[in-house]
Amino acid sequence: MNIILLGPPGAGKGTQARILVDGRGMTQLSTGDMLREAKDSGTEMGKVVADVMAKGELVTDEIVIGLIREKLEAGGTGFIFDGFPRTLAQADALGDLLAEVGQSLDHVIAMEVNDDALVQRITARSTCGNCGEVYNDITKPIPADEKCSNCGASDFKRRADDNEESLRTRLMEYYKKTSPLLGYYHAKGQLRWVPGLGEIDEVSGGIAAVLDS
Ligand code: AMP
Repeated sequence: MNIILLGPPGAGKGTQARILVDGRGMTQLSTGDMLREAKDSGTEMGKVVADVMAKGELVTDEIVIGLIREKLEAGGTGFIFDGFPRTLAQADALGDLLAEVGQSLDHVIAMEVNDDALVQRITARSTCGNCGEVYNDITKPIPADEKCSNCGASDFKRRADDNEESLRTRLMEYYKKTSPLLGYYHAKGQLRWVPGLGEIDEVSGGIAAVLDS
């Protein structure tokens, strides 16, 4: 089963993807993570995208489609597309790529949230640099002993683009370029809404209900 988690920045896509990886053995394909890795390892592509990402703009369709193509051509199934597709061109490309490797898209899960919650979540968020566990200063603070509750490492990071200015651009990019995908997948009969504002377990329960339906 292959699914898309769709929602604005801070909707909880990464957190829910990790739960699906742990609980169902699915594979998370986060273009944001792939781009950050490219940036941190200083590849040519990483240098090209660093500035665009810091501003909160979208990198080119060509680059992200290339990243996803590589992953799909490497084989496997049970993919969670997290942060991809973000434009209609990417959505078309994903359909074509899946068809090329003989796979299909089973569900598109749209996470329903409101913008105030997003700003609060994003400006308070940090992650474990070792395992990717997500923390929030208010709802899930870093443990008092400063060790990750998942892996024990003490290497917490805040994303360079998790500031109010980038976030404003990221939200605008979402509403201008990504939210049309809601109509696109609705028209294809693949869109399912899940409330994204509750406790993490409630949200994952909503997603599980869709996947098991
Ligand atoms: P994310 O981790 O999904 O919030 O992505 C972080 C940043 O990476 C975004 O603000 C974009 O600059 C870039 N990015 C990630 N995925 C895509 C995509 N599918 N298309 C274009 N840009 C992307």
